[in-house]
Amino acid sequence: MSDHVNGGPAFADFPSSFKGAVVRPGDEGYAEARKIPNARHDHLHPAIIVRCTDADDVVTAVKYANEQNIAIALRGGGHGIDGFAMPDGAFVVDLSLMKGIAVDPDTGVARVEAGCLLGEMDAATQEHGLVVPSGTVSETGVGGLILGGGLGYNTRRHGMTVDNLIAVDVVTADGRKLRASAEENADLFWGLRGAGHNLAIATSFEVQAHPIGPEVTSGLIIYPIDAAVPILSQIDDFMASTRREMTVYPVVLPAPPLPGLPEQLVGVPIFVLIVVYTGPLDTAEEEVAKVAALGQPMANMVRPSTWMEANSILDVLAPPGRRQHSRGGYLGGITAEIAQIVVDHVSNAPAPTGPGPSCAVAFPAMGGAADDFDEDATAFSRVGAKWLWEVLGQWDPPESDAEYDGWVDGVMDALKPHSLRNGYVNLSTDQGPDWLEGLYGSAEKWNRILELKAEWDPENRLRHNKNVKVAKATATA
Ligand SMILES: Cc1cc2nc3c(=O)[nH]c(=O)nc-3n(C[C@H](O)[C@H](O)[C@H](O)COP(=O)(O)OP(=O)(O)OC[C@H]3O[C@@H](n4cnc5c(N)ncnc54)[C@H](O)[C@@H]3O)c2cc1C
Repeated sequence: MSDHVNGGPAFADFPSSFKGAVVRPGDEGYAEARKIPNARHDHLHPAIIVRCTDADDVVTAVKYANEQNIAIALRGGGHGIDGFAMPDGAFVVDLSLMKGIAVDPDTGVARVEAGCLLGEMDAATQEHGLVVPSGTVSETGVGGLILGGGLGYNTRRHGMTVDNLIAVDVVTADGRKLRASAEENADLFWGLRGAGHNLAIATSFEVQAHPIGPEVTSGLIIYPIDAAVPILSQIDDFMASTRREMTVYPVVLPAPPLPGLPEQLVGVPIFVLIVVYTGPLDTAEEEVAKVAALGQPMANMVRPSTWMEANSILDVLAPPGRRQHSRGGYLGGITAEIAQIVVDHVSNAPAPTGPGPSCAVAFPAMGGAADDFDEDATAFSRVGAKWLWEVLGQWDPPESDAEYDGWVDGVMDALKPHSLRNGYVNLSTDQGPDWLEGLYGSAEKWNRILELKAEWDPENRLRHNKNVKVAKATATA
């Protein structure tokens, strides 16, 4: 689609009652509004970006999309690696300026608007010594993260974000405002917790926060690459025996420049345990010592920290503005064979194209409290999953796309036979319709998601996502 229609600006009749900014190519503010972290999508130019100030603006935009019979792209945090937030020629409903956050210190319930980023949510809840269980990178948007599941350092202690979700205010694909919770529109609420990107436009979330911090214990333990297989081979048993307040994310990667890491190690494959312990401070030393004792560390940088520091450890590993490709899946456990596959691939990773991190395979921990929640209580599936594996490639020159894509996909191909069929929609680029169906764990759940899509978005207005396709879809663009 071009940005001009019949010689005039695209969507020239977009309603003037819309309160927020409306930007098209060439307008002041368009370049800024279009920016998303994955530079891979930088060549794409939406036809129009409508920057909502509140839920009423969302209604205006959605009704207009219905009148025009066009698809709606949604920008939350813009962090989704597929770049669905800013497709070429698209009509983009931008939620990123809707940043209200209110925290009730008595109940621990946080009301968070859809444009907030995780770092902003953490900062607001930490004022009351509270944390919403969510993800690990500060610039990730709450919208995309929550509607897919929400996995982070508190998953083992308090479950996924969707397990802590109380209610969602949405604008439906046909432009109605309503609330979904266990009591109201309960079927939609079930689907929003895991398949939400496909069902409605969330404008705000009510979510349960828990007392954590401000002081916690966190940091990296760094081992030589030779330690990866022996440690990973015993890590299932370790996680089964350690406290739920302890989370360990193993990562295999060519060492990036990190504060405290000897310069001669940069670029050399290493094995890292990211450790976040939110249990009682007087037990931290003993609990962390048990982790470090899994092998012979080269450096142990775990120390008392604030929760805000702990939950931004990974920020430096995935800076915005680079080209990225990522795949992921679930594991029922980490075997020596899986560990060796990962070590072999990381040892043969493409050379970094700049000073930043290039290739990594990480194993975010699941299990613990996440298993306390009924598999069928939400669309999100976790049955059997003890770990997620995630492979990430990051580079700068477009000429390196094929090399990095090949490496990332090679890791996926090697890990696929060891992975569960169910999985997490958010931590992988799209792998196609069969993959999407499998993510949700059972035919019953998938059929329920299809029914919800047919009921709540029959025209497939919300198609710029890992798309649940319904037969009746007619929307264009
Ligand atoms: C470097 C990196 C680290 C990550 N770390 C974690 C992590 O620790 N834990 C974790 O769980 N996930 C993590 N993710 C995955 C993250 O949860 C998803 O990318 C998520 O979709 C990002 O949400 P967003 O709002 O920023 O993205 P966007 O790109 O804005 O949106 C992503 C998708 O969500 C849809 N969407 C966004 N907002 C709404 C809304 N309000 N209503 C309906 N649909 C909406 C969009 O249409 C799009 O399809 C990470 C991703 C990256 C790239």
